[in-house]
Amino acid sequence: MEKSVYISIGTNKGDKISNCKFVIKKINSIFKILRVSSIYKTQSWGFDSEFFLNFIIEINTSLNPLELLEKLIEIEKLMGRVRENKFSKNKYESRFIDLDILFFGNKIINKKSLTIPHPKLYDRNFILVPLLEINPFLTCPLTNKNISEIILNCKDKCVVEKTSYVFDFNN
Ligand code: AMP
Repeated sequence: MEKSVYISIGTNKGDKISNCKFVIKKINSIFKILRVSSIYKTQSWGFDSEFFLNFIIEINTSLNPLELLEKLIEIEKLMGRVRENKFSKNKYESRFIDLDILFFGNKIINKKSLTIPHPKLYDRNFILVPLLEINPFLTCPLTNKNISEIILNCKDKCVVEKTSYVFDFNN
């Protein structure tokens, strides 16, 4: 059965708008995209670096969560992301594209390789602000709170600024 899935997309390396355009076209060629948020310009979270562009999409998929994760990792690799050495001290890094599964229907998953809902979503403005834009009533299956409620409790001070960029999937 098809599930509605929310994916967070971020980039802070290279030509960021081109990265966003490329990834949305790639995802559109594989999945049915239901909603796309605006693109937000955001301060880097957890480390000093160039600003990020972030946005959220909702897709439909009949893949299972691990199959979807595999597909997303393939896209990240295609776009030149080199995963950090897992022994590196710095948890955060610059990236051409970062794809995270936020929600997968009402599933709750606690595997080593996959945690859903994404554990960091509750304290990141760059996830909550675009989510609020596309679905303020989306309810987290773990906390039973919707995005409007979750964002009220978020203490993140990072600035998240909506850009005027509009996607055209055909270009
Ligand atoms: P990062 O992109 O640095 O946040 O880490 C990516 C890794 O986190 C992936 O290889 C996954 O195995 C793992 N991971 C755990 N939960 C998730 C999730 N909800 N979405 C994407 N990756 C996840």
